[in-house]
Amino acid sequence: MKSQCLISFGSNLGDRYALIADAAKAVADLPKVDKLRASRLFETPPIGGPAGQEPFLNAVAAFDTMASAREILDCLQVIETDLGRQRRQRWGARAIDLDVVLHGELVGGGTGLIVPHPRYTARQFVLKPACDVAAHYRDPRFGWTLKRLAEHIDQGIPSLALVGGDQAIREELCLRLAAQSGITTFAAKPLATPMKVVGNAPAPIVRDRQSVDLQPPAQDPKSAGKSVESIIRPDADTGPWVSAFMPPLPPLDSSETASVNVPRLVARMQSTTDQTRWPAPHQMWPAGWRWPEYRLEIDDLGWAVSELASALSSMRCPVEAVTADGGWW
Ligand code: ADP
Ligand code: MG
Repeated sequence: MKSQCLISFGSNLGDRYALIADAAKAVADLPKVDKLRASRLFETPPIGGPAGQEPFLNAVAAFDTMASAREILDCLQVIETDLGRQRRQRWGARAIDLDVVLHGELVGGGTGLIVPHPRYTARQFVLKPACDVAAHYRDPRFGWTLKRLAEHIDQGIPSLALVGGDQAIREELCLRLAAQSGITTFAAKPLATPMKVVGNAPAPIVRDRQSVDLQPPAQDPKSAGKSVESIIRPDADTGPWVSAFMPPLPPLDSSETASVNVPRLVARMQSTTDQTRWPAPHQMWPAGWRWPEYRLEIDDLGWAVSELASALSSMRCPVEAVTADGGWW
């Protein structure tokens, strides 16, 4: 079956224009890639990672393909290697980074591959270019078009609600984010609703709205004096925020999704082992919950903290077009 595929390009090392154009040509020349359309080229300041990096050039390409997501990723990795990418630290300077963002309706993956890309939802440097050539593509998990998702990330305040992992880890991540990056965090424990189990994932009892009833936050004497707040009540001056719990979410089709106290994304925490790097698709969402999602491995908490701070930055980083059209390759 033919699938619509979206891939992203990024480069901030060496001759960025030549590298990214060579990568696009190599992808367009793949035998199973049809009708490749490239976005304009965009420039984005480096986010996270070591200091002193050059700005990134970013773009995306959409195409039709009979190839599987795995075959596409294998080809992208060969192209990365041919173009001299050395795998170093994440968010570090790189000659070329090629990712599979979406592949038709696929939700899943396997070793070294997860589709939709686990972190693209936070990246305006992917979403903005995607609006050039794939604005109508839909994320198969929550059904929004990429245009709607890009607007959603642009509205309200950059924010993440942490889910998964255990409460202690989520609160620890919040404390470190507040201490290291001055990010506003909401770390109380309001989720006291009874849980029923759907499949092997706990699901909140869903009432009339797509939300979880919130009890008043439990007073935890240990958290007294720490720089966390218990209810999500950002005001005009509140910067990016992170909550250690899931607040009530409005229905996906309502205009309330733009509200400042609604998280832009739900960040799903994941411990990984070699055997189960990612959960099976049916484990990803408790029944009845749909919300734009960002995935994060939490094996290394220090790394996870910087990744969360980077995700918040990439929701609002300047992404400026540097070409007039998609003909740069
Ligand atoms: P990032 O793209 O997040 O900046 P890397 O390019 O270093 O980070 O990728 C890290 C790993 O992510 C790769 O080894 C690759 O196997 C894995 N990966 C998982 N899913 C995808 C995907 N959809 N597209 C590209 N790489 C993926
Ligand atoms: Mg990559």
